[in-house]
Amino acid sequence: MANIKRRVSVLGSTGSIGINTLDVIARHPSRFEVYALAANSSVDAMLAQCLAFAPRYAVMMDEAAATLLRQQLPAECATEVKHGESGLADVVTAPEVDVVMAAIVGAAGLPSTLAAARAGKTLLLANKESLVMGGHLLMQAVREAGARLLPIDSEHNAIFQCLPVDDQATPGHKGVSKVLLTASGGPFRRWSYEQMTEATPDQACAHPNWSMGRKISVDSATLMNKGLEFIEACWIFDLQPERVEVVVHPQSVVHSMVQYLDGSVLAQMGNPDMRTAIAYGLGWPERLASGVGPLDLVATARLDFEAPDETRFPCLRLARESVAVGGTAMAVCNASNEVAVAAFLDKKIRFTDIAVIIERTLERVNIVEVTTLSVAEDADAQARECALGALADLQRFTSTSKRV
Ligand code: NAD
Ligand code: MG
Repeated sequence: MANIKRRVSVLGSTGSIGINTLDVIARHPSRFEVYALAANSSVDAMLAQCLAFAPRYAVMMDEAAATLLRQQLPAECATEVKHGESGLADVVTAPEVDVVMAAIVGAAGLPSTLAAARAGKTLLLANKESLVMGGHLLMQAVREAGARLLPIDSEHNAIFQCLPVDDQATPGHKGVSKVLLTASGGPFRRWSYEQMTEATPDQACAHPNWSMGRKISVDSATLMNKGLEFIEACWIFDLQPERVEVVVHPQSVVHSMVQYLDGSVLAQMGNPDMRTAIAYGLGWPERLASGVGPLDLVATARLDFEAPDETRFPCLRLARESVAVGGTAMAVCNASNEVAVAAFLDKKIRFTDIAVIIERTLERVNIVEVTTLSVAEDADAQARECALGALADLQRFTSTSKRV
């Protein structure tokens, strides 16, 4: 009998989305085969995943980590270890690969995500930063190569589920008036701006409903995550920004909604567990068991909704302004956010400085149209440099004011 298993490459396999993806795959051994796993540098986690899933390839971005992994893999394990961008490109574009889970964190995910789209793969897109940075290029590649993009970010996955089936691949917006993106509000939803100036990385990463990687957890606390998702929604569903609305919903049970012309609002609900969205992407158009328990509405009891506060959470405004400017503004917003979040996690700046750095960078970097990957990469590099300058200015200011 022919092999009907779908072969999957999981990029960012050692992260939160990657681990959840492998959890769902492990529940369906007759449907999926892991073709390749890819991660940055965590050798121990990758070794354990290779032993459990026996992929044909394991890719480590870091060459030294690849060497270490090669030494540690037992002789009976047939996994071949590759490294770097070329190793990643190989396991994305190989003709044997059916599905690519794009779950690398940050702008670093763009080249491989774009390569998967250009190779016409089924692209399960978790890496929202790649759309923010190169949305035009990525959506064009999906159309031209006939790739299938299935959104994994829970909000976009929810919207996708609430669209008519014939509207999912190429949105014609049949009867759709708006999409409503829900936001939990993050751990600082009730904090004043002054309180947020003292927030620590651990407090910012303690998300009330979702367990995620540290970068996206900080993004959720600043609401930049919702800003990036706002941009993501415009690209995936081909919507003008006026047709995307953010609604704060602290319980994270309604994952997002589609509002139709006749007044109907369709919502997708469920427990806050990424395996539902991942299983939907892996199984589409079928439904697969994901390991997520049924939603207990009586225990949930309440569903609250409120408007976001862009004064306390300026990152959401900055992301919306970047969409309005267009071109490389979104890549600049994304790159400066990555620099600022890393500095906050390193305890170099205050939580509220994240927005300050992004705003200063957006004011200083020249914005152009995104025509090629290198234009997007140049904008990303310029923004990082400029954000590092803004960061140094802030640190200088802080150390001077301490001395006074
Ligand atoms: P994470 O930090 O837990 O994991 C990141 C993964 O990417 C790791 O496997 C790491 O080794 C790999 N990686 C990092 N830099 C790399 C590089 N330069 N090259 C190759 N691999 C690299 O992150 P996460 O929370 O799993 O998020 C992954 C992506 O999914 C992000 O874009 C995030 O915004 C998105 N996302 C995550 C969630 C969630 O619940 N965690 C939800 C929605 C969307
Ligand atoms: Mg999300």
